Amino acid sequence: MNKRFRSSAFLVMLALLVVPNPVCAWDDFGHMAVAGLAYKRLQPSVRKRADQLVQLNPSYSTWLASLRSDLKQEDKNMMLFMLAATWPDAIKGDTTYKPDGLDKGYRPDGITSSLNIGYSDKFLHKYWHFVDLPFSPDQTKLLPVPTPNGESEIAVCRSTLASDSPDLLKSYDLNWLLHLVGDLHQPLHCINRITKGLPDGDSGGNAVKIYDTEPPTLLHSYWDEVLGTERDPASVLPFIATLPKASSKQAKNLQVSKWVKESFALCLSKVYVTPVAISDRVEKLTPAYKKNALKVARRRVSLAGARLANILNNELR
Ligand SMILES: [Zn+2]
Repeated sequence: MNKRFRSSAFLVMLALLVVPNPVCAWDDFGHMAVAGLAYKRLQPSVRKRADQLVQLNPSYSTWLASLRSDLKQEDKNMMLFMLAATWPDAIKGDTTYKPDGLDKGYRPDGITSSLNIGYSDKFLHKYWHFVDLPFSPDQTKLLPVPTPNGESEIAVCRSTLASDSPDLLKSYDLNWLLHLVGDLHQPLHCINRITKGLPDGDSGGNAVKIYDTEPPTLLHSYWDEVLGTERDPASVLPFIATLPKASSKQAKNLQVSKWVKESFALCLSKVYVTPVAISDRVEKLTPAYKKNALKVARRRVSLAGARLANILNNELR
């Protein structure tokens, strides 16, 4: 191995090591798009109630300070709601929060995994962000689906929001709900591809390297970032206006197990397909693959926003 090759291989490794937060799901951009779409569809009384709960988040004053002061109050409220959807990822960068569970926090251990105590909970609960539905293209033994997971946690949040629990707990669960509805519409949040080479699975494409981007990335991150990476809610609003409208029949389907199956099916039909297929190293994505990824992501975000609005309009008390 010559020195030049060695150093470029080192740079690639370094770039892959510094990819932040594997399994973080739609970048903030996608999460804000889901929440923004939902907010526009909320009934006025539900919107007001959601605004009250968002205000109770410990990051509220920081979010408020980040917004332009000359915005209209209603626009500020929408952007604060959008920022709230990014909170379960944002705490991963806050040292007062700690990973819990097994496997660097990505597997529940049954000890802290089902806590629902609100903001005094300083665990990251990273395993709430996804559902590891197993799949093997080479007939390797499938692993059971760990619980709790994104699907079971959405059920917990929905039942809190529909109950007469204290507002502080509702606020915590609302933030998680806004985030997780987005997560489970990212196809790679609902699959674990198990192969002879990776018998524990690829963690939703987090073990599949893509060398087509600068710097190189992971399949999971490629899909997370396909819509955009801007962090300012004001930059997400023009994008929302370009999204296809979700079918109202699909938007009325609030059964989360069905959403997970849809995402899983999309992984088989649109994610783990040529040139990714069963490889865990992809040199070049084709224009057709990239075009399809963008199309799928736009549809999923649109549907997630419509479903989130329906949940809140029907259930938030
Ligand atoms: Zn997430």
